[in-house]
Amino acid sequence: MLDFPANSFKVMSSNNLQTRIMPFCEESVCEAADILKNGGIVALPTETVYGLAANALDENAVKSIFTAKGRPQDNPLIVHISNFEMIKPLVTEIPELARRLAEKFWAGPLTMIFGKTSVVPDITSGGLSTVAVRMPANDAARAVIEKCGFPLAAPSANLSGKPSPTSAQHVFEDMNGKIPLIIDGGECSVGVESTVVCFREDKIHILRPGGITAEMLSKFAEVEIDKAVETAPRPDERVLSPGMKYKHYSPKANVFVVNKRADLFRKFRAMHEDENAWFLSRGDYGEGFIDFGEIAEIQAQRLFGLLRSADENNIETVYVEAPDKSGMGLAVYNRLIRAAGFKVVDE
Ligand code: AMP
Ligand code: MG
Repeated sequence: MLDFPANSFKVMSSNNLQTRIMPFCEESVCEAADILKNGGIVALPTETVYGLAANALDENAVKSIFTAKGRPQDNPLIVHISNFEMIKPLVTEIPELARRLAEKFWAGPLTMIFGKTSVVPDITSGGLSTVAVRMPANDAARAVIEKCGFPLAAPSANLSGKPSPTSAQHVFEDMNGKIPLIIDGGECSVGVESTVVCFREDKIHILRPGGITAEMLSKFAEVEIDKAVETAPRPDERVLSPGMKYKHYSPKANVFVVNKRADLFRKFRAMHEDENAWFLSRGDYGEGFIDFGEIAEIQAQRLFGLLRSADENNIETVYVEAPDKSGMGLAVYNRLIRAAGFKVVDE
C-alpha cells in the first residue's frame, strides 16, 4: 500500500498528469480553487467520504467528473454549498421543513432534494427537474467552496462501483493520473455518504440512509424509508434515487452479509475456515476475525477501508456479520448489501 508521510507536499508520477496530494492549508485551498475556477476537478475531504469536486454550474466541468469516475450519466450529483445564501439561486422553493432541518443539521451529512432552477445544468441533476443540496461540515471542503464562490458538485472520489474513499490514499488509488490535486484532510469522520431525503406530503422520505439517522429526523416530521434502501430494485423499476439502482461500493472480493450473531457467526466461520476469506465481526472475536466495530458509528468509519484492504490482500471472499438496522446501522447495512450485490446468508 502507498504510504504518505503526514503534512508533506507530495508529487506523484502518473499515467498522463501529475496527481499531487497536499495537506489542508491555505496554499492547497487556493490551488484547488484556482483549478476549479478554470473548469478543472479536484478531490476534497468531507466528513462523509472524499469528494471529486467541480463547479456544479459548469456543464463541461461536471462532465469531467462523470468521465473520471466512469459514472452513469443518469446518476445525479449532490451540489455542495458553504453558506445558506448559496442555495437560493439553485432551487425553486425551500419548504419550511427543509429550513428547519437545515438549521439543525447543516453543516453536516444531510442532503435534501429541491425543485431545481435553470441555473443548475441538467448534467448535474442527471436530467431530473430536482437538485440535491448539502452543506458539508468539513473545514477543507467549506474553505474551498467559499474561496470559489460557486457551489461544487462532488460525488465520492472513487471509480464508479468501487468502495468510496475515506482517505487521500484511497482517492489516489482510483484517481492517480486523472486529476491534478487531492487535498488530504485525514480520515473521514463519518465514513459513509450523506443521508439523502426528499419531502412527500410533509413527510421526510429517506432515499439513502447516512450519518443523520431516521431517529434524528423523526423529531421534525414523520419519516418514511424508501424500499430501495434495504432491498434490490427490479431492473425495470423506476427508483426515486437513481443511485440506488446501481451495484455499488464493491471490492473485487465476493462479499456476503451473514445474518448470524456472535456464537452463530463463530460457528459459521469454523465451517468456512479453509477458504481464502475474511470474517468481519462485530467486536473482537479473537484469531481468525477482523474487528469491524461493535457500534454502527465505528463500522461506518471502517467499512470502505476494510473492503479496499481485502483486495490489497487478495482475499476472495468477505463474510460480514450483519449490522443492526437501527440508527447509523441502517446506513452501514445499506452500503453492505450493495457491496454484496444483495447476497445475504440467512440459514
Ligand atoms: P454520490 O454523489 O455518489 O454520493 O451519490 C449521490 C446520491 O444522491 C445518489 O444516490 C443519487 O441518486 C442521489 N441524488 C442526487 N440528486 C438527486 C435527485 N435530484 N433526486 C433523487 N436522488 C438524487
Ligand atoms: Mg458514490
